[in-house]
Amino acid sequence: MALSDYLTTFGQYLKAKHGEKIYKLSLHADVTCPNRDGTKGIGGCTFCNNKSFFPNDMDPNTGITEQIESNVERLHVKTKARKFLAYFQAYSNTYGELKYLQELYAESLKPDCVIGICIGTRPDCVSDEVLALLNRIKDLGYEVWIELGLQSAHDKTLDAINRGHSFADYQDAVRRIQLYGINVCTHLIAGLPGENKQMVLQSWQRVMNEGVQGVKWHPLHVVKGTELAKQYSRGEYQTIDRDTYIDIVGDALVQTPKEVIVHRVMSTVARKELLLGPLWTEDRWPVMSGLEARLKQAHKKAV
Ligand code: SF4
Repeated sequence: MALSDYLTTFGQYLKAKHGEKIYKLSLHADVTCPNRDGTKGIGGCTFCNNKSFFPNDMDPNTGITEQIESNVERLHVKTKARKFLAYFQAYSNTYGELKYLQELYAESLKPDCVIGICIGTRPDCVSDEVLALLNRIKDLGYEVWIELGLQSAHDKTLDAINRGHSFADYQDAVRRIQLYGINVCTHLIAGLPGENKQMVLQSWQRVMNEGVQGVKWHPLHVVKGTELAKQYSRGEYQTIDRDTYIDIVGDALVQTPKEVIVHRVMSTVARKELLLGPLWTEDRWPVMSGLEARLKQAHKKAV
């Protein structure tokens, strides 16, 4: 048995829709974030160090086409994959001049093997112009996903981690994205400062109430060079332990409707040398098997 026996994983959804396994190509664009450049704030979210997304050996000036070519080659050798999604993860990838974004998305979709695009961003920088652009891409037949970083539906927590946006901003973004029929995947974090299980599940429920198409789970990582790392070293923040993570995310997964696509249940940082904790996140397999056992148990009870 695997997680996909109990819920709809992103891989499963893509395979059913496109007839074969599709892989994501992580790409890094020349963008920033309004919570870093002074528009919303300086310094960003307390946990943010975008370097943790960048592989060690990657030159930050590498162009998109070059990134695609090397990623495709590597993934093809490893998995024999033939089709891919361009995935812009770090920073806010809908934030910037429309012309630049248009060229960026177009370049990423140029190779025949790229069948769609996933764009990571924050709820307060999804303009109607960018949505219209993504809608045109969707209408050309590409798979299009906006990955919205929400992390928590509690404004008190959003303030504490210096997100610079509210839950109402998220609701507004989801409503406008859905007017275009573009898929939304919401990112949630378990283990945020001051949050207990009940609060995380409330966030998940509020996200479900918005009718999003997908959800992605992360444990909160403490990464070097962040405000959270300072809080952690002063003993003001304690990381979530593995069993608690499995318990909370497991409960949410058990209740997640089959039509909601689970993009990820656990994340790791790309650059291990930046990770201060929780160190159990370096090995995702015990989490995967813990979640699987949790889902299996719930499934048995239901039948
Ligand atoms: S919104 Fe994203 S990129 Fe911007 S500071 Fe927060 S985590 Fe970093």
